[in-house]
Amino acid sequence: MLSSKQEEFRRQTRNFIIREIAPSIVDYDLKEEFPLDNLNKLSNQGLMGLQVPIKYGGMGLGEVECGILLEELGRICSAHATIVGAHLGLCIGPILLFASEAQKNKYLPRLSSGEIIGGFALTELAAGSDVKNIHTSAKKVGSDFVLNGSKIFCTNGDRANLVIVFALTNKSHRSDRGITAFLVEHGMPGFTVGKVESKTGIRASTTAELVFDNCVVPEENILGRPGMGLMIALTALDGGRAGLAAGALGVAEQALDQSIDFMTNDKAQSSIVNRQSLQGMIADMAMEIFAARLMTYNTLQEVHEYFKRLARKENILRDSRHHVSRNCSIVKAYVSEVASRAVRKALEIQAVEGLEVGQPLERYFRDSSIAEIYEGTNEIQRLIIARDLLGLHSDKNDEEE
Ligand SMILES: Cc1cc2nc3c(=O)[nH]c(=O)nc-3n(C[C@H](O)[C@H](O)[C@H](O)COP(=O)(O)OP(=O)(O)OC[C@H]3O[C@@H](n4cnc5c(N)ncnc54)[C@H](O)[C@@H]3O)c2cc1C
Repeated sequence: MLSSKQEEFRRQTRNFIIREIAPSIVDYDLKEEFPLDNLNKLSNQGLMGLQVPIKYGGMGLGEVECGILLEELGRICSAHATIVGAHLGLCIGPILLFASEAQKNKYLPRLSSGEIIGGFALTELAAGSDVKNIHTSAKKVGSDFVLNGSKIFCTNGDRANLVIVFALTNKSHRSDRGITAFLVEHGMPGFTVGKVESKTGIRASTTAELVFDNCVVPEENILGRPGMGLMIALTALDGGRAGLAAGALGVAEQALDQSIDFMTNDKAQSSIVNRQSLQGMIADMAMEIFAARLMTYNTLQEVHEYFKRLARKENILRDSRHHVSRNCSIVKAYVSEVASRAVRKALEIQAVEGLEVGQPLERYFRDSSIAEIYEGTNEIQRLIIARDLLGLHSDKNDEEE
């Protein structure tokens, strides 16, 4: 399914991650510390600008290669996959699709080199699943916009130098052209970081509240056009969900590999390999991972083609957009649940040994359920899938009605 070039990219990426990133992940997780050092190493390889065209300082690769990177990171640490997924998929992704040439020239080289880290701030206290219910507002004052409100649970929030912030510019049209996306830089007056969450899982990734108190953002920092915000957010989430699935696939594969290792390698456990109930678990994991892998890379390829068409400003039929969104929701929900099931089975196989603090499985157990929640809970993914199949959406922009 992958080309020989893509397989070679995987081989090199995996070797690099095992050699340079893996040794420090337990420490970062236990200390709940942001892995800046590892991000610098990824930047030095060009991986923080993986899908950015070469003319803006990136590697010029695509969504499939992004998936490969996230899968390989997911194999060793979901927190690293989350940080890089937010930077590449949720910040760089929409800039590539919707930014002006001046904005691309200004931000993409610095994002690609890792000089700056990106974030995406949509969620608010009353607007998680119901994204239309945001209250952060942006009022035009002269040639600036003044933002007021706060965002919660922003991945990379306290570390990101550039955040795509979604705010209401027209309160009477929340779902339809009422929301605008802004490129907000750390250091813009009135922009501060609030509470940084402490989490059970993906502890090395930071999740922060962002506060906008009369925050002044120049009009030139609007991403796309005024009123395009919801479309930009949902398009970014399509790509993000496919990338998230790739990270979860890595977790599932690692759970299977570790289970096989445990059952076959430990002499003291030699009787375990013949237990049919455990063999059944191995087979169940393998079957689900096989399906998850096919659907993840199929969808990443589809997203790649779709994004290319969007970047060329082609007129894309509503049904085609819905089809891509539906498939991204399918892989997000399915693969994140495959990963959670695989980790639980691996824990049953390894029993008490897998639960020791500092063991990979113990960490995967804490990390894996989060993929079922963020970038839209799996309940919401099921609504998107069902509503598309049943023809129930009244509006492309509706995450839910
Ligand atoms: C670690 C982490 C990182 C995150 N990073 C980011 C980020 O970078 N940027 C960002 O903007 N957001 C981020 N989020 C927020 C995340 O996307 C939201 O948490 C998620 O969308 C769910 O919203 P909520 O927590 O407000 O839950 P709610 O919307 O309050 O939902 C609560 C429960 O009700 C269910 N529910 C809600 N509505 C319906 C419905 N209509 N039908 C059926 N069930 C429903 C949900 O499935 C859920 O089980 C992050 C979250 C986490 C945990």
